[in-house]
Amino acid sequence: MYDFSRCKLCTEKSGVPTYKLKDSTVYACDSCGFHYINHLDTMPSESPDEADSPLTQKAWDFIEGKLIPNGKQLRKNLRIVQEFSRLSEAQCLDIGAGAGLFSSLLSEEGASVYGIEPQRVFREFAQKKFDIALNAETIDDAFWQKGFADFFDVVTLWDVLEHVNFPTETLKEAYRVIRPGGRLFLDTPCRDSFVYKISEWSYRLSKGTNPLLLGSLYSPKPFRHKQIFSLDQLVQLVESIGYTVVRANYSPLKPQNKIVLVCQKPDGAHNE
Ligand SMILES: [Zn+2]
Repeated sequence: MYDFSRCKLCTEKSGVPTYKLKDSTVYACDSCGFHYINHLDTMPSESPDEADSPLTQKAWDFIEGKLIPNGKQLRKNLRIVQEFSRLSEAQCLDIGAGAGLFSSLLSEEGASVYGIEPQRVFREFAQKKFDIALNAETIDDAFWQKGFADFFDVVTLWDVLEHVNFPTETLKEAYRVIRPGGRLFLDTPCRDSFVYKISEWSYRLSKGTNPLLLGSLYSPKPFRHKQIFSLDQLVQLVESIGYTVVRANYSPLKPQNKIVLVCQKPDGAHNE
């Protein structure tokens, strides 16, 4: 059991339960100011020979219905990747590939694509819809860490960092599989957003009875949001791991309110 008084970002024992929501508590770190909830996911333990496919018609319709709204954002993300990396013949890894749409976009551009998706229902969808085989092994697995060290030209983490149990580890594990000179692209919600700040004020003024959107920004349900970075926290974190930040975007006025980072593993950087 993880001791949530230990900050998930700076690892100091400075985490203080600060916002008590309906089904979780947001901890704020006294040392570094990081915000995270008191919940970790357990990875699904499915055996591949499990008889019943989770991809029912209902699940198929649900996932397919999400592809169109998600597709707009992912096509924008594809253009960001193309600004920095030539995709034809590039080796790409999409971590948190979901239904496989971004992987299929990369593939259309001529890239060799690997994708990681822990939920079997999405992997089966990606296989049937896009003919893309996603991997169940998460990025910490020796399959990637040993088999693909210094390998990828492009690694993407679209909407992933807010979902994983330990974002620092995920960023380090991604670093190891990127080749020197290769790039990491990511987006994640931003705590500098107006919505977040207003929700904090509302929580305090109402003595906890009205947290506005804090309750929907965080959730202990599986694979939901567990932490939300400020732009400065995230930039400092990736730099401490060894990445060079090539671009850091955050626009507080945009409705999506996400951080977009483009990072590079320096030329000549090798794993120990
Ligand atoms: Zn901290």
